[in-house]
Amino acid sequence: MEKIILTGDRPTGKLHIGHYVGSLRERVRLQNSGEYAKIFIMIADAQALTDNFDNPEKIRGSIREVALDYLGVGLDPKKASIFIQSQIPELTELTMYYMNLVTVARLQRNPTVKSEIQMRKFEANIPAGFLCYPISQASDITAFKATTVPVGEDQKPMLEQTREIVRKFNEIYAPVLVEPDILLSSNKSCLRLPGTDGKAKMSKSLGNCIYLSDTEEEVAKKVKSMYTDPTHIKVSDPGNVEGNTVFTYLDAFAKDEDFKKYLPEYENLDELKAHYKRGGLGDVKIKKFLNAVLEEELSPIRERRKEYEKDPAFIVEMLKKGTEKAKETAAKTLDEVKKAMRIDYFSGDLF
Ligand code: ATP
Ligand code: MG
Repeated sequence: MEKIILTGDRPTGKLHIGHYVGSLRERVRLQNSGEYAKIFIMIADAQALTDNFDNPEKIRGSIREVALDYLGVGLDPKKASIFIQSQIPELTELTMYYMNLVTVARLQRNPTVKSEIQMRKFEANIPAGFLCYPISQASDITAFKATTVPVGEDQKPMLEQTREIVRKFNEIYAPVLVEPDILLSSNKSCLRLPGTDGKAKMSKSLGNCIYLSDTEEEVAKKVKSMYTDPTHIKVSDPGNVEGNTVFTYLDAFAKDEDFKKYLPEYENLDELKAHYKRGGLGDVKIKKFLNAVLEEELSPIRERRKEYEKDPAFIVEMLKKGTEKAKETAAKTLDEVKKAMRIDYFSGDLF
């Protein structure tokens, strides 16, 4: 069976380094590996509207930002179809049919949705569309018969939900849909990168992000004010590396070459950690190093992004073409789904 990727992001703002290590960096690697027959990258505007329905301008404006971030990190429209979710009504249609295969109780049990409901303070007023977004995500994944979904850890429950829907559909109707696998980063620190405030997840909604489009000065400022180990007060104090955000970021970003270039007195991250734990290593020094490591990776992204910013027509064309291509595939799957569900009334004799 050919390998197909579907993944995406909600256009609720610019993308940040959590998205980068959790999914974008891996996507670019997979794109360039040549192992995938098709790659679909979705800008999930319909999903973003489920909790931003009263702020459509935010979603509209963020489409450009996300597209620029994609091009900046090296996603290549020649190799990947980059498309806009709402422009493919086939996805909404699939959602309608999949809704019959899922209970409300099952949706309410989804731990990611649960914590998002809390974060958004919906309490008893959960928009039905928001509660159902995991079903819409199942449509997105299955419409492209995706085998592989490279995402961050918070998406695990969505993938489980999708697999359940696939199994149920195939069992009741016909074996049309493909069960996808989640592809998580093998680097533990990349699964759910914490925010600069040390909170569990870097998230657009929490305002604790380093954005891919931040200037060099902005990155430096954010790194300087980052959360470290609150018990590490004097340089001579022994420090903790666990739960210390600066070290988590180094885990996600630092390469041995970075040490040769920017901190040659250490061979690698293990040596640096050991010194911090022993005491005698100040936060200023590790933050300076982290800043250099981040710049090494972010500055080419920033430069590429700036180049594409000059050519909005290219971005519109890329999104149009990507959407057309994605729509063709989704329409084919929807036809198969309708046939399996016996609602393909006008494709032969009805009675
Ligand atoms: P929102 O607050 O609007 O939900 P978000 O920052 O959570 O935004 P999404 O668009 O929901 O971003 O997620 C896009 C992708 O990035 C998903 O694959 C998700 O798992 C991954 N991701 C998001 N935040 C992180 C993070 N902090 N660490 C690792 N991966 C992340
Ligand atoms: Mg999210």
